[in-house]
Amino acid sequence: MKCPFCHHEGLKVTDSREATEMNAIRRRRECLQCSKRFTTFETVELSVQVLKRDGTYEDFQMHKLINGLAAACQHTKISHEQVVALASMITDELMQSQVREISTTELGEIVIRHLQALDPIAYIRFACVYKRFKDLGELEEAIKTIQYKD
Ligand SMILES: [Zn+2]
Repeated sequence: MKCPFCHHEGLKVTDSREATEMNAIRRRRECLQCSKRFTTFETVELSVQVLKRDGTYEDFQMHKLINGLAAACQHTKISHEQVVALASMITDELMQSQVREISTTELGEIVIRHLQALDPIAYIRFACVYKRFKDLGELEEAIKTIQYKD
């Protein structure tokens, strides 16, 4: 990195703080040559590829996960804050696992695992979409697994 004013390469960091709302680290830097100060943002680049059922890929996007979760959690006791917290937890999990590719089925399984622990109604709703139950028997089996858990 170079100073934006004099292009000198000697810089020092004077202050680092997290800008959590944008998942970024904000750093105040000072040029060792001209002493001018400027701010840099270091953001997380999440480039996990999601393999869809039709064989195409798309970038993993947390907002899509939030939308899917929000739909499953409608009219349940799970608040929007919990949905966002869950989505960011799953996103963190993905980043830490350092996988570069995940199928929608695998992603669905991760979500289901979390929802199952959180709320049975939201779990069934989400599972209905992701597992694509072939018939009512399969749905019944899924409901049974919850009953047995209790
Ligand atoms: Zn400078």
